[in-house]
Amino acid sequence: MSKIEPLTKNLWVAQSAVFATNSALLLDAGSCYLVDPGITPTELDHIVAFVAGSRATLRGIVLTHAHWDHLLGPERFPQAPVIAQDAYRALLRRHASDLIRQVTDWRTETDVPQERSFVPPNPDVTFSKQLRLYLGPTTLRVLATPGHAPDHCSLYESRSGLLWAGDMLSDLEVPMVMDTFAAYRQTLRRLAALEIRSLVPGHGTPTTDPREIHDRFAGDLVYLGEVYDCAAKAVEQGAELAETLDCCVSIPFAQPDSYPNAHRWNIEQAYLEAGGKVTGIAGWAQDWA
Ligand SMILES: [Zn+2]
Repeated sequence: MSKIEPLTKNLWVAQSAVFATNSALLLDAGSCYLVDPGITPTELDHIVAFVAGSRATLRGIVLTHAHWDHLLGPERFPQAPVIAQDAYRALLRRHASDLIRQVTDWRTETDVPQERSFVPPNPDVTFSKQLRLYLGPTTLRVLATPGHAPDHCSLYESRSGLLWAGDMLSDLEVPMVMDTFAAYRQTLRRLAALEIRSLVPGHGTPTTDPREIHDRFAGDLVYLGEVYDCAAKAVEQGAELAETLDCCVSIPFAQPDSYPNAHRWNIEQAYLEAGGKVTGIAGWAQDWA
C-alpha cells in the first residue's frame, strides 16, 4: 500500500510504485493544492481519501508537464482547476494522441481497468514565467523551468526552502533533455541560486541533506555540459551521428539505472542542437514515435 508521508509542515508526498513518481499534497489554512497526482487507481484512491480527510478545500492541481505519467490525476478531481505552463497547450495539440496511446498501452500492460478512456487534461489556468499560489500565509511560486520539456514547471516555497523540481534533479533518472540543453542548463543554474532546504524530484528520493542537494545540481550540470560539448565538438569536426555516439557514450552520469535509452537520446539531442544533420528520426522525438 502506498504511503503519503509528511516532508515539511505543509507538504505531504505520495510516491507511486510506477517509476517512483512523486505527487505533492500541499496543505495550509484549510486550502490544498496537488501537484502531479497519480498514478495507479489505488494510489489515486488514497490521494482522494487523504484530501477528503483533511477537510481542506482543493484549490487546484498543478501539472509540471505534459508527459503521460504526470497527467492521470485530474480526472479524479473534476472540480479542481488545472494549472500548467503556457507551452503545455501546444504540447497537447501536438501530442494528445501520443499521450492517449501511451496511457492506453500502460493500462493494457499492467492490467489497469479501463473504465473510461484517458483524455489529457486541459488547463484552466496557464502562466508564462511565474504564477503565485496562496495557501493561507504560504506562498507557492510556480516557475517555468524548461529543459526537460518546453512546458516544464517547478514549485518553490521560500519559507521552508522547498523545491518541487518536477522531472529534474533525480537520484534515479539521468537528466532527459526533451527540450534543449541550453534551456535545461539555464534552468538548473537559475534554480541553484535559490535557498533550497528540501528537494523533491518528480521521480526518486526526496532529500533535505544540503550536500546531496548540492551534488544533484552539480552532477547534472556537469553531465549536461559534457554531453553537449562532446556532441558539439563532433559536429564541428564533421562527425556523423554514429561516430558521435561512439565518442560520447562513455560520459559518466550518477543514475546508472536510468531509462535505458535516455543517455543515447541525450547525445543525439545534443548533436541535433549543435547543428548536426541526420536522416530519419533521432533524439527524444523517438520517445513519441
Ligand atoms: Zn517527464
